[in-house]
Amino acid sequence: MAGGAKKKGPVEKIALQCTECKRRNYTTEKNRRNTPEKFEMSKYCPFDRKHTLHRETKVK
Ligand SMILES: [Zn+2]
Repeated sequence: MAGGAKKKGPVEKIALQCTECKRRNYTTEKNRRNTPEKFEMSKYCPFDRKHTLHRETKVK
């Protein structure tokens, strides 16, 4: 299969920021079409050493 240029979809890179220490611990991708609202999830924060709520922020 020949690899061509990938079509740009509605997928956007986001960072997941800890709501407690405000550090950006993770980056991920989300599909704006499926998830138009702000993305939030509980993730392990190595700085707080526990699971905290992480919220979507923009990636440059
Ligand atoms: Zn944290």
